[in-house]
Amino acid sequence: MSEIQTWADRFYQAYVFDMDGTIYLGDHLLPGAARLLAELRERELPVRFLSNNPTKNPRQYLEKLARLGIEADLEEIASTVVTTVRWLKRNHPDATVFPIAEAPLVDALVEAGFRVSDDPAEIDVVVASYDRTFDYRKLQIAFDAIWFHRRAVLVATNPDRYCPFPGGRGEPDCAAIIAAVEACTGTKCKEIIGKPNPIMLREALGDLEVDLKDVVMVGDRLSTDIAMAVNAGMSSALPLTGESTWDDVRALDPNHRPTLVLDRVDQLVPRAVWDEHNWQEK
Ligand SMILES: [Mg+2]
Repeated sequence: MSEIQTWADRFYQAYVFDMDGTIYLGDHLLPGAARLLAELRERELPVRFLSNNPTKNPRQYLEKLARLGIEADLEEIASTVVTTVRWLKRNHPDATVFPIAEAPLVDALVEAGFRVSDDPAEIDVVVASYDRTFDYRKLQIAFDAIWFHRRAVLVATNPDRYCPFPGGRGEPDCAAIIAAVEACTGTKCKEIIGKPNPIMLREALGDLEVDLKDVVMVGDRLSTDIAMAVNAGMSSALPLTGESTWDDVRALDPNHRPTLVLDRVDQLVPRAVWDEHNWQEK
């Protein structure tokens, strides 16, 4: 394990960003995020934005980034709405799907040509997700499709136990839905698409021809963003602007630590380039 770097010494071939705690925090852009992205655009380096949250339409992320002054393209947004649909397309292209999900995921499945059904006798794949409209009816349909008809497999959008809110509150997330379906059917979820599963990276990078070794994953959460990068054998950068601290990094097994730990995300731009641009910390 080499020393952790605190400033990048090169540019990577592509950049995969977590958003909250990395690019912005709540409704505020984090220091240096705008000029970092401008620099990457200038150099025509590909960028992707990841989110485990399947309750938002990808366009909502574009709008939020735009509101904060970051221009992005729809194809650069890889939330679990996008990556789950892509994964299903590749692995269960002809499946009849029952999404335990809110409208953005249901709509994306229909748009991608999937047959969506709540008839347990014809469901091939039950997709558990972060669904604030979850109820007993949905659980019964999943139970019948998986346990009674013995035909459906269970997959899920993301492994998060809860979605954190500002002020320390939160909402039960996909892990609770997975657990409910697993508990009654006695089956195990076959695949959980979101971070830290490297499937998320593969589906996010899509057709980009890059070697994972030359891609950096940038995110503020050790257990998802950084763990995924480690699982995929790629470089990772942890900005200390979100939920992790140096103490958390030191507490980790050296093999699970990030490649870079940054005070601010624009330290992904090498210092020599800061000097060229006369950048100061501000
Ligand atoms: Mg984050």
